[in-house]
Amino acid sequence: MFVIELELVFTGQARRRPCAGPNLEVSTMAQLQRFSMTINGRSSGTATVPVLDPATELPWAEVPECTASELDAAFRAAVGAQAGWAADDRARREALRKAADVVTGATEELARLLSAEQGKSVADAIGEVQGTAAWIGFYADVEVPDLEVVVEKSVGTARFPLGVVAAITPWNYPLILSAWKFAPALRAGNSVVLKPSPYTPATVLRLGELLQGILPPGVFNVVSGGDEVGVAMTKHPDTAMVTFTGSIAAGKAIAAAVADDLKRVKLELGGNDPAILLEDVDPVAIAEDLFWGAFTNNGQVCGAAKRVYVPESLHDAVCDALVAVAERIRVGAGTEEGVQLGPINNRPQYERVRKLLNSAVSAGATVRTGGAAEQERGYFLRPTILTDVPAGQPIIDEEQFGPVLPLIPYSDLDAVVREINASKYGLGGSVWSADPNRALAIGRRLRVGMVYINGHAINHGPHVPFAGARWSGIGVENSIEGLKEYSQLQVIYANGADL
Ligand code: NAD
Repeated sequence: MFVIELELVFTGQARRRPCAGPNLEVSTMAQLQRFSMTINGRSSGTATVPVLDPATELPWAEVPECTASELDAAFRAAVGAQAGWAADDRARREALRKAADVVTGATEELARLLSAEQGKSVADAIGEVQGTAAWIGFYADVEVPDLEVVVEKSVGTARFPLGVVAAITPWNYPLILSAWKFAPALRAGNSVVLKPSPYTPATVLRLGELLQGILPPGVFNVVSGGDEVGVAMTKHPDTAMVTFTGSIAAGKAIAAAVADDLKRVKLELGGNDPAILLEDVDPVAIAEDLFWGAFTNNGQVCGAAKRVYVPESLHDAVCDALVAVAERIRVGAGTEEGVQLGPINNRPQYERVRKLLNSAVSAGATVRTGGAAEQERGYFLRPTILTDVPAGQPIIDEEQFGPVLPLIPYSDLDAVVREINASKYGLGGSVWSADPNRALAIGRRLRVGMVYINGHAINHGPHVPFAGARWSGIGVENSIEGLKEYSQLQVIYANGADL
């Protein structure tokens, strides 16, 4: 069942239905809600830092800023709890199954918080919460072999947990991307200290509160704070592994920070995914899928299509078809009924996307649709289609992570493939054609972590691996492969002992 739900989360299909999410009156909340950190199974910290609603720019909640002594307490608790947690796989599975059920039971509450702090529609937020439960449930249920025989009666392999995993996550999918980390890390027998983004801490803090009493004290700690709390986590002597999703710049800083102690590190970083259209596509037939492959979550998806390569002969028809879809989209506060795309999540990102857009326009690009939205407040930008973008513009060469999509005409497909493979980004890439096998042959030439045929940013669920090449990441998330990354391989020469 989660396959369907997760496709809704990541491909934006939820928005193709009438978006009549529950009428949750977030924007009219009179009082600031307060959230606690979870350290050693108990609520901790004093909520003093405001969380803004990106649709109004007004605070609606307050969260703690983790102090150095609170962070030490979280790591002490995680160290203390880890061995007992690692000792009993059945207990881990049961606790994670209960945790998945708790998330399911709190779907509406968590979705309401998520929409308020992230900006996405309540319908999309519900999809994200459902996906989170599916991920935790998958790692509760998946069979993990205790020992694998390599040479009969002689050599086997086993795995043991690393210890305390420091998990650091971004603001685009705060809840599910946290689950991508803590669920496999916990199932593998580690304890976790998790820090969400300072722009979207509330939903993950609430998750920590809900799981107190479900997961043993100290096993799952949730702290909140700015980048410097993340830095302290990466340098903490009790951290055995850092698992991070976020920007390439922070990923590089983390890789440098862990080098001294050779801590294990997993990095899921930015993307600048190309979508390549072949000349046999029907522009109108593909327009909606292509649009949502780029604009799901307002383009704030690591693996969204961020540049579209179009054969010269199809350029105008593809542009017209995408503009037609874009102009039908309802933009507004995520909590308003029927809204399909909300605001950009935060002011620095809003300014960054507008700067990239303005730079392209100053250099001669044409805005076919989109640009500023009508709202007086909030970080709104309508879905924007750009053409005539000169080569070398950052909107093509860098990750925009927002609702602006450049169309790039081409006449030489081999040159497009060469250009993509020369990029430092290597998360995903898609090829679109009436002949899927022809598209696949081109897709297999792309040196990227994920290749999509006639679709983009598809995610079938926790059983499928997720990986980026070059600067887009180190390591694998999800599936049994992702779980293995939270453990150490041990080779056993049994010398006659039973394997
Ligand atoms: P960010 O790197 O600014 O922040 C992410 C998290 O890291 C936050 O919790 C932040 O406080 C923390 N942080 C920042 N600097 C740190 C440091 N030096 N040491 C430790 N922690 C630090 O990223 P963001 O702006 O929140 O997220 C947007 C970026 O994330 C985009 O580039 C996007 O592509 C990427 N992203 C990647 C994936 C993926 O799986 N590949 C998924 C989602 C988002």
